[in-house]
Amino acid sequence: MVVDYKKVGFIHLTIFACLLVFAIATTSLARVNDGFLKIYFLDVGQGDAGFIVTPAGRQILIDGGPSDAVLSKISSRMPFYDKDIDVLIASHKHSDHIAGLMSVLDRYDVNNIVDTKIGYSSSEVSKWNQLKLAEGANEIEAKAGGYMDLGEGITITFLHPEDTLEGKTSKNPNDDSIVTMLQYENFRVLFVGDAGAKVENAMMSSDIDLSADVLKVGHHGSATSTSTKFLSAVSPEVATIEVGAKNTFGHPSPIVISRLENNGIKYYRTDADGDIEVVSDGNFFKVNKSK
Ligand SMILES: [Zn+2]
Repeated sequence: MVVDYKKVGFIHLTIFACLLVFAIATTSLARVNDGFLKIYFLDVGQGDAGFIVTPAGRQILIDGGPSDAVLSKISSRMPFYDKDIDVLIASHKHSDHIAGLMSVLDRYDVNNIVDTKIGYSSSEVSKWNQLKLAEGANEIEAKAGGYMDLGEGITITFLHPEDTLEGKTSKNPNDDSIVTMLQYENFRVLFVGDAGAKVENAMMSSDIDLSADVLKVGHHGSATSTSTKFLSAVSPEVATIEVGAKNTFGHPSPIVISRLENNGIKYYRTDADGDIEVVSDGNFFKVNKSK
């Protein structure tokens, strides 16, 4: 499968101005650079927060959950002196995804922000736009065909939206979700945000390769996402569900749980398993859970 990729952004390592900090950083990075990519599906209540740390220590956060709970979760996985995050990706404009990202913008220096240009009005989105402006980060518009090269054989490719959403107003923010494929050599993780069956069908009817080892289940396990056909197209070995305990939405739906079980897919859920860590060397992977 060939997609007409084009580069939309580069990630640059932070140049440490202070020699002392540099000495600490190089020692620390040398110690932790074991060649493993780590992905944390964080237990932040009812919402999504996926934190990716590359072998060289680059950090990418896909959504931030509904509150500042994400701050302690990511800081405990970063060197204490590190106040930079390489990339923030806001899958869509709902509070359970961007509220935590706003607290991250308050706390950290963010180098790149990936977003769409969809129009959606809410008090939170106004604040999000103000914070983005104040951050002065490099803004990357996500649309299918674009990708980010993170070095070390790691890429993040955008699979949805199909084209720019500039000038459009959102009717259903879930279906504006940025869908990304994280790839490290032969290992692939699909993040679908809260995209529903309509988006799943659109991606399946294009020639996008959706196959992945790990699927971040769409919309917290809602029955309107994760169709049986979509599961066949992705064919993951493991699925993760980001969901709050006793949430009022009834997520995850028992229907989705049955679909996973019927397809022999092992699944983890943040309400029961806590933080879910996936570690890969680019070929194999293993899953650890905090509960
Ligand atoms: Zn959500």
